[in-house]
Order: sequence, then C-alpha cells, then structure tokens
Amino acid sequence: MTYDFCIIGGGIVGLATAMSLAETRPGASILVLEKEAVLGRHQTGHNSGVIHAGIYYAPGSLKAKLCRRGARKTKEFCSDHGIPFETCGKMLVATNDLEQARMGELVERARQNQITAERIDAAELRRREPNIVGVGGLYLKETGIVDYRRVCETIGELIQKSGGEIELSVHVAGICETPTEVVISGSGREWKAKQMIACAGLQSDRIAKLAGLKIDHQIVPFRGEYYRLPNTKSDMVHHLVYPIPDPELPFLGVHLTRMIDGTVTVGPNAVLGFAREGYPKFSFSLRDVLEYIRFPGFWKTMKANLGHGVTEMKNSIFKAGYLDECRKYCPSLTLDDLLPYEAGIRAQALLRDGTLVHDFLFEETTRMLHVCNAPSPAATSAIPIGEMITAKVVAK
Ligand SMILES: Cc1cc2nc3c(=O)[nH]c(=O)nc-3n(C[C@H](O)[C@H](O)[C@H](O)COP(=O)(O)OP(=O)(O)OC[C@H]3O[C@@H](n4cnc5c(N)ncnc54)[C@H](O)[C@@H]3O)c2cc1C
Repeated sequence: MTYDFCIIGGGIVGLATAMSLAETRPGASILVLEKEAVLGRHQTGHNSGVIHAGIYYAPGSLKAKLCRRGARKTKEFCSDHGIPFETCGKMLVATNDLEQARMGELVERARQNQITAERIDAAELRRREPNIVGVGGLYLKETGIVDYRRVCETIGELIQKSGGEIELSVHVAGICETPTEVVISGSGREWKAKQMIACAGLQSDRIAKLAGLKIDHQIVPFRGEYYRLPNTKSDMVHHLVYPIPDPELPFLGVHLTRMIDGTVTVGPNAVLGFAREGYPKFSFSLRDVLEYIRFPGFWKTMKANLGHGVTEMKNSIFKAGYLDECRKYCPSLTLDDLLPYEAGIRAQALLRDGTLVHDFLFEETTRMLHVCNAPSPAATSAIPIGEMITAKVVAK
C-alpha cells in the first residue's frame, strides 16, 4: 500500500505532526517510523520539562508566536487528556547590574510578546524565594512543567485510535523520492508514501542527506548536563529559578527546575558533545566527531565562542565550577547537593559560515518536508509546529 503520509521520528515534533495530520485529514493513512523501542527517547525525553511562556524570543518571530500558542495548546491538551502539569511560574534572577539591564530588555520583550511579567526588587525576591539571592527578579506566572514523555505516549495513543500506525524499532536507512511517491526503507522493510515528513532531531541532517537533499548545515550535539537535588531539599525553591540569559548564547543558563514528579534538577549546561546519542559522560562516537570537525562552520563557531566553550567544558569536568554557576543565585547549595542525573543532548544546527541556527529550519521538496532544526522551546511549541507542518504539506 502507499500511505498518504509517512513521518520519520517519534519525538514530540513528529508525533504532534502526525496528530495534526490525522485531525486535518480524517481517514488519511498515516505511518510513523521510530528507530527506538519507545516514543520520545531522545531530546523530548531528556529535557527540562518546562512549558515556556516565550519571553526570550524576538517579538513577531516564528519562535515567539509558536511558543505562546504552544504553551496554551500544551496545557489544554494535558487538561483534556488527564496528563499532570503545573503552572508553577518562573523567577528570573539578576545577580549584577549587567543582568539588571538585560532584565529591563526582557521586560520590554515580555510586553511586546504579550506575556505577563512582574518585575520585583531584591527584598521581594528574598520574600518569595528565601533561598535565592539577587539584585532583582522577573516573575512569569504562566510558565509550567510537564513530562513530555507522557505527552508523547498520549499523542501516540490518539494517532493509533484514529487509525494511524506507529512502527517502533525501525531505523530508516534509505529514502528515495520519485515523481509519484517516496520509498522509505529500513530494518529490512520498505514503505511507500505520497508525502514524507522527517522530524529526526539529532539525526535530521543525516536523514536529509539520505533523501538526497543538498543541505548547508550540520548538526552538532551540545550536551545539557544536569544534577538533581536530594529529596530533602526539593522544597528549596517554589518556582523555576533561572539566571538572566546571555543574549549572545542560544542556551538559557543553569537553572533550578522543579519536575512534575517532584524532583528538582539543576542544569542544564551547554557543553560540546562527542556523541549525538551517547548520554553517559565522556560518550564518544568517532563518526559523530569526524563529521562535525570536517564541517568548516564548526571551527568558526569554536573560534568565536572559545572562552565560553572552555568554561563550560571545565565546569562539566569539575563539579565545583558547575556549583559556582548555581551559587551565584542559590548560595546555600553545596557539592553534596549535586546528585547524578541523566544528561540531555541538543541537536544544534550550524551553518557553513559558523552561525548557530536559533530558529526553526525546514527544507522542502515536492513530496518531502524535513524539519532540520527544532530547538528549544520546540517541546512547548510542538502542537502548533505540527499544525504549521500540516498546513504546508496538505497545500502541496
Ligand atoms: C537538555 C534539553 C533541555 C530542554 N528543555 C526544554 C524545555 O524545558 N522545554 C521545551 O519546550 N523544550 C526543551 N528542549 C527542547 C526540546 O526538547 C526539543 O526541541 C524537542 O524535544 C525536539 O523534538 P523532536 O521531535 O524534533 O526531536 P527528538 O525528540 O530528538 O525526536 C527525534 C526522533 O527521531 C528519531 N529518529 C532519528 N533518526 C531516525 C531514523 N533514521 N529512523 C527512525 N527514527 C529516527 C529519534 O530516535 C527520535 O526519537 C530541551 C532540549 C534539551 C536537549
């Protein structure tokens, strides 16, 4: 048979796309292919679980719009399907004058992005978060937390209930687009589809190349390493506590995050990874490393971010450095408070000229759409991303 739509990747973006296609085209035959034995095994299952409000993103940008809409849609979806989530709010903490000034810019950004943000002084910060110190804070009451793996499981059930198929443990290894269909092969099997959508996260550039696309970017893995606080300290913070991000960097800085199961994580940092899917520290894949060191953009980015990269690497190896990052705003933390917790790995697209791609990146052909970069907050934004992809492919 020839499927109407085949989606590669059972992370939250692929699943949200399949769900939206099933809603928009009832009766269409839909197939999701996922190489792991469970859904949401990679970025989606190793993230901070935050439903972002969308304060950081340039007003009017796709990221800003999708995040705001995504936060609302994610909460609605969880309410409709009995998935636990909590709108616990987020406190951004400024620890010096430079961060105070950057916070001022975020207040303006919040206004333009129509996000409720309350600026508070040091005393009020101390009253609301007694274990946190700073010269001021910015409180975002709409930020929430959820387990995105749970969201994936539920979306998977809905896709199957509506007649869609999900094949797990299928590693797509061949894609051939012809004038009439796309032939997809892997794990000794073959499928045909009128249209194919690739949402392969950390493998998205490889899948694009496999499909014959001439792409101008490379995925570089950036580890997001976490610790967790001991259970006795899980009431240390009442909200999610974040530093003020450096606008030059695509990552948000080490934060204290209450997870939906009650654990409080510390992190993630952003350190160059040596394996796309190797979660333990010092994981190494020769293929992954050779690929990015041969890409000209990699060395340009490294040169431009050398100082920051070295600090991140040092803090990754030496826990004391990591602790110092957290103690800037949570001084009572000690080395013993940082317990092991599994890392996540970000798929960061890099252009040939060394630019880090901060926004979504899509590549299209007649019968294919490839999601080449779906950075944070793509878990929050997944439902509207899926709707946007659906609008693109049904219009073909
Ligand atoms: C450390 C960290 C923290 C983050 N925190 C947040 C947060 O708090 N809030 C937020 O909104 N976002 C957050 N993000 C971002 C968010 O998690 C990702 O943007 C989002 O999960 C991307 O989803 P995806 O479906 O594109 O990718 P993935 O979840 O990586 O899914 C891609 C899937 O494709 C499959 N695949 C790949 N190749 C093949 C193949 N050949 N054959 C078959 N299947 C294949 C993979 O196995 C995988 O399951 C965070 C990310 C990280 C790494």
